[in-house]
Amino acid sequence: MSVKVNSAFASVLLAFGLLLPCQLGLPTTTNQGDRLIVFVPTRQAQLDWLELIHSQAGKPGEVGENVRFWFGPGLLNQETIVFVPGGDYGRLVAAIPSSQDTYSWWTVQKENLGKLVTGETRRSSDISSAYRTYQEILNFLDQTQSTCGSFCSVEKYGTSYEGRDLKLIKIGDDLPSKRIVWIDAGIHAREWIAPATALYFIDKIVQGYKSSDSTIKSMLDNFAFYIAPLLNPDGYVYSYTFTRERLWRKTRSAQAGGCYGVDLNRNFGYHWGGQGSSSDPCDENFRGSSAFSEPETRAVRDKLLAIRLRTISFITMHSYGQDWMVPYGYAYNVSVDNYAQMMRPVQAAADKLKSLGRNYDIGNSAVVTYPAAGASDDYAASIGVPYAHTIELPDTGQYRFLLPQSEIPELAWRRWRLSKSIWGTLRPLISQGMND
Ligand SMILES: [Zn+2]
Repeated sequence: MSVKVNSAFASVLLAFGLLLPCQLGLPTTTNQGDRLIVFVPTRQAQLDWLELIHSQAGKPGEVGENVRFWFGPGLLNQETIVFVPGGDYGRLVAAIPSSQDTYSWWTVQKENLGKLVTGETRRSSDISSAYRTYQEILNFLDQTQSTCGSFCSVEKYGTSYEGRDLKLIKIGDDLPSKRIVWIDAGIHAREWIAPATALYFIDKIVQGYKSSDSTIKSMLDNFAFYIAPLLNPDGYVYSYTFTRERLWRKTRSAQAGGCYGVDLNRNFGYHWGGQGSSSDPCDENFRGSSAFSEPETRAVRDKLLAIRLRTISFITMHSYGQDWMVPYGYAYNVSVDNYAQMMRPVQAAADKLKSLGRNYDIGNSAVVTYPAAGASDDYAASIGVPYAHTIELPDTGQYRFLLPQSEIPELAWRRWRLSKSIWGTLRPLISQGMND
């Protein structure tokens, strides 16, 4: 899952498949006047004009020469998101057909947006100072392992469609007696804040252990953490490459019809093929040709099955929306048997997050967002993991998937404080054997 249904923008995504794969990428440089314009065509002539501008990409002298379509053009009454370089803005605006309605059919969504995408190249040694490349993420895992001695280890648990390593880091003594907390991120390519948050968690846990932080030592006395920061490296690399598509969501496996990618969070094998998933390979939420058709989901499945009896908590991080949800999400009105139990730490988390200035919607995932069959949290619950959570990280719509990287430490810090604070809630549950 990635978006909420209560905005027009979300409706584009949630129409599943109407997020048309752009043929064009993002500019490699940006200027101060770059803008993001949101069009909502209500008349066929408006949609035709958008199609015309779309077709002019790269054609010298045309109005649409340098315009980049991030979403659409799709259908009537649905948003089309267009990136307009500053130098082209005036020419494009002058060419927009006037609306016959009393309201404008287009708005400037964000001034100077380009820097959010391409200008954020600041780098420092702090892992949370920037959105990291795939290779930087692997390097960080290896460097962490090299400095943390015997209490952490990096494991390759699979290989992606394009041949990239799927890796997780295990933190804490990995004894058979230890319960496992699974945390993953990056199943959807464009949700960059999720892997960034996972990396921050890894760093904080390891640093906390080294500095004898009492809460972290208590955590590690009871748990081993398995943190997989990037479940979909092929899509992430594609999204991260600025000549490609920043807002790419799926994997990059070749599919019928010349389309690419599977929505991994519709490819898990519990009620696979149900609501909120598409059979069309060109759709954003294409579920794949069969349950676990993709190497990325098979790898997670096999790992989870291997540690199933030890795993107490499965946490998968997405963006955006600020939601904290529990299964089942494959349809409305289906819930896990231990819903009340599963919601207790969620409620504690939401209360704490609220005190930290972030309001999260919580509850059953189909209710909070929308039904989505084949999701990983449903699968985790189906194999008996007592706590299965999907977290939609911020924001709620201002920046959407383009959350500035300056937000990473702030968000991750809040969530880190949160994870420590809910420890007191979770620990008694664990000591009671989760039987309440
Ligand atoms: Zn997502």
